[in-house]
Amino acid sequence: MDKIIIENLELIANHGVFKEEKFLGQKFIISVEMTTDTRKAGKTGDLSSSTHYGFVADDIEKLFLSESFDLIETCAEKIAQMILTKYKLITEVKVTIKKPWAPIKKHFDFVAVEITRKWHTAYLSLGSNMGDKKANLLEAIENIKKLEDTKVTKVSTILETEPYGYTEQDMFLNACIEVKTLLTASELIEKLLEIELLMGRKRIIKWGPRIIDLDILLFDNDIINTENLTVPHPYMCDRMFVLEPLFEIAPYVIHPIKRASIMELKKLLEEK
Ligand code: ADP
Ligand code: MG
Repeated sequence: MDKIIIENLELIANHGVFKEEKFLGQKFIISVEMTTDTRKAGKTGDLSSSTHYGFVADDIEKLFLSESFDLIETCAEKIAQMILTKYKLITEVKVTIKKPWAPIKKHFDFVAVEITRKWHTAYLSLGSNMGDKKANLLEAIENIKKLEDTKVTKVSTILETEPYGYTEQDMFLNACIEVKTLLTASELIEKLLEIELLMGRKRIIKWGPRIIDLDILLFDNDIINTENLTVPHPYMCDRMFVLEPLFEIAPYVIHPIKRASIMELKKLLEEK
């Protein structure tokens, strides 16, 4: 992918843990590498198809000088977040902050932090079989929209399905959504579990009745296996109530383990 780069922007600011750093200030050298598609601007000469590095540099300066942070880690995080949320054509950004005068009694050129942040695409499954099920799904979507640095970009139709696993319970309503987020997968699941709790979810019977169930089906092309998160969702390929709404919003998306599209996975399950 193409990049727009600002290399070694020098600013004097007051970030640091020590009071002397906050009081005296020191030099910081900032670089950003912004991933974007410059092809259209390159072919047409139209700057509105690209990102104005002058504006980005001004915004970095404004942000960097507006407040004093203890850590350059925080500064880097703020700069990455500002660029990714304000400049819509940037999909990924690498931010480096060098501190050549860091207060350590040694000889060195600089200390630095370097972070890479990007917009992630996640597909979520939503289910409800208690109370006003449709209202529950819509409320969950509203709550997901309110998460920091997260946008709901696609919503499937709502599907009525038979209960799965524990069958002595009411019919389910299910849907899938696509979200774009700066959150990591583990931050996202934490937030989704918070929304479940906020909406009154109680875990009593495995696969039992629930006001709301929010699952991460896919997160970029990532394969994740940790104590509280398995992605791709381990049962997604066996559940028509997942594949059908997911097919509606993401037919060509590839399952990173099965290496098959959602369209193919749905067809396979239909033939089972
Ligand atoms: P289910 O969704 O299978 O009916 P629960 O919603 O009760 O079960 O289970 C939630 C637990 O599963 C959470 O504690 C969560 O950390 C864990 N979990 C692991 N992987 C995922 C995933 N991909 N999506 C949602 N929850 C997950
Ligand atoms: Mg769940």
